[in-house]
Amino acid sequence: MMQHILDDIAAEMALETERGKVADYIPQLAHVDPNQFGIAVATPDGKVYSAGDADTLFSIQSISKVFTLTLALNRLGSTLWNHVGREPSGDPFNSITILEYESGKPRNPFINAGAIAVVDAIMSGREPTEILDEILQFVQVIADDDSIGFDYRVAMSEIDHEDRNAALAHFMKSFGHLKHDVDKILNTYFHHCSIAMSCEQLARAGLFLVSNGVNQPTGVKVINSQQSRRINSLMMMCGHYDGSGEFAYRVGLPGKSGVGGGILTIAPGKGSIAVWSPGLNPVGNSKLGSKALERLVKQTGWSVFSK
Ligand code: GLN
Repeated sequence: MMQHILDDIAAEMALETERGKVADYIPQLAHVDPNQFGIAVATPDGKVYSAGDADTLFSIQSISKVFTLTLALNRLGSTLWNHVGREPSGDPFNSITILEYESGKPRNPFINAGAIAVVDAIMSGREPTEILDEILQFVQVIADDDSIGFDYRVAMSEIDHEDRNAALAHFMKSFGHLKHDVDKILNTYFHHCSIAMSCEQLARAGLFLVSNGVNQPTGVKVINSQQSRRINSLMMMCGHYDGSGEFAYRVGLPGKSGVGGGILTIAPGKGSIAVWSPGLNPVGNSKLGSKALERLVKQTGWSVFSK
């Protein structure tokens, strides 16, 4: 049944001619072929269903912010919220405007400024290479796959074009909101955004958010159930930036997008869904990915707003 649904969605997406625009502000991402589409669903019983280019690696970009947030909540608990807020921003992911009104404290952990503040918080007491190893190992454990790695060309490409993120970081630092050296924070941030994963790996990595913080197939308790619930609510409210309302309206599930064209979506108790198609809509979220998820929810009834 699930396999059938995914095959149908992939077949339908293959026919789409309006595929959105590949992100080109990170030059390395501009080379990605927009005619790709992959989808995978991992379920708590350990099964993984997939269709299309579901085993092709892509740059997870901002989806990695879910994993650094999870690490940070494990490490700092609720004191994390001294560094970053938890309200939707209604602004683009790289916007600086409300940062000034709110004295340099980012609205939420999923906009760039917020993710940079999260990195600063988890760097305390660690060298940049240690924290990068820690982030990567964490992702490998939750996905149960130690082949996952950084894409150094993407990380370097972002470092070479870092002006906007550097501006956000320096601005926050000027308000006393960042503790560490901006270059070190950004280096860590760009590397975690450069992690390359396939839809199948990403769907597995999301399983802990399906089952109250525990990855059922591996038995690993990633985070406590209250925190897991809270991460899901942040994904619902803020995971698509100024497109979060539209995503909640159309899909009705917690989701986190990245400018590499991936979206990780959680259907609590049911499954973890990863989609990928590199073309983006005007607010920087995967165009076909969003469409495919809308289709999937219609077929499965998996919205958190329906019974
Ligand atoms: N690394 C990207 C950036 O900082 C992440 C943005 C995204 O995926 N929305 O611009």
